[in-house]
Amino acid sequence: VQGGVSMVLFFVLLHILQTDTAERSELDSDLRAALRERQFVLYYQPQLNAANRVIGAELLIRWQHPQRGLVGPGEFIDHAENTGLIIPLGQWVLEQTAAQLRHWSDEPLFRDIGLAVNISQKQFRQPGFVAEILALIERHGIAAQRLELELTETLIVHDMEDLTRKMNALVEHGVRFSLDDFGTGFSSLSHLKRLPLSKLKIDRSFICDVLTDANSETIVRTVIALGQSMGMTVIAEGVETEAQRRFLADNGCSQFQGYLLGRPMPLADFCTFVQRHNA
Ligand code: C2E
Ligand code: MG
Ligand code: MG
Ligand code: MG
Repeated sequence: VQGGVSMVLFFVLLHILQTDTAERSELDSDLRAALRERQFVLYYQPQLNAANRVIGAELLIRWQHPQRGLVGPGEFIDHAENTGLIIPLGQWVLEQTAAQLRHWSDEPLFRDIGLAVNISQKQFRQPGFVAEILALIERHGIAAQRLELELTETLIVHDMEDLTRKMNALVEHGVRFSLDDFGTGFSSLSHLKRLPLSKLKIDRSFICDVLTDANSETIVRTVIALGQSMGMTVIAEGVETEAQRRFLADNGCSQFQGYLLGRPMPLADFCTFVQRHNA
């Protein structure tokens, strides 16, 4: 009997594993096809200063799936990271970004707009990452200052040596770095001090209850003060209400991103948005 039970268990497990693997490899081949067939799009989420002017946008990837419609990054970025597909995908994002910056460079209303790109851990760890970014800037003839690379704390806790070296090399050429989802990871203050960051992005989880949770309020105030004292810009992500925006501004936060200001939107809508706010 025992042998029979373990046989059944074995087949159940085998079935689970096979289904899982089949689903994964299906997603994998779908993603590869999507890249070939140009089904990815970048949405632009506006970033505004305290005077309500658009100073830039964060680029957020979406998959325009022929059957499923618009698919968010939550459903494929981790997978792309695990399979290495994030490398060509990330290159595509960077190419698009640089081409857009080039396109805007002689339009008065747009030439000061900065674009922020999310860089995955695996992408940043590529030995050729620095050279690739510098070549991109050169090839498109763009001002490096317009390009902002968003890193997360996960990246920071490993191999500070390599990280600092790469960041410094790019910062020397004018590229800017921001620390995304700040407060959710485990980076220490000594890490923060050593890295050439120009911006801290306070994670949405603190912003959403900043007015109702005393701990979040303290954390937000502290992060703003910390950023200021280190000479960094502090931006709040996930600002959804005017009351949150006011609290943040009153406490010295200088940039805002969130549904209150604008949802991630297609390029054409973002251009209209900029015209409406900055003209
Ligand atoms: P993230 O970089 O922290 O991006 C912010 C996320 O918060 C975005 O989700 C955005 O749509 C959402 N968001 C912005 N404002 C609000 C708000 O007021 N309320 C709420 N509830 N949400 C808000 P999204 O677009 O689903 O992206 C999720 C994550 O996927 C991003 O988090 C980023 O880590 C990753 N991602 C997106 N695009 C790329 C990419 O091109 N490359 C890589 N490596 N990762 C990407
Ligand atoms: Mg981000
Ligand atoms: Mg974020
Ligand atoms: Mg986030």
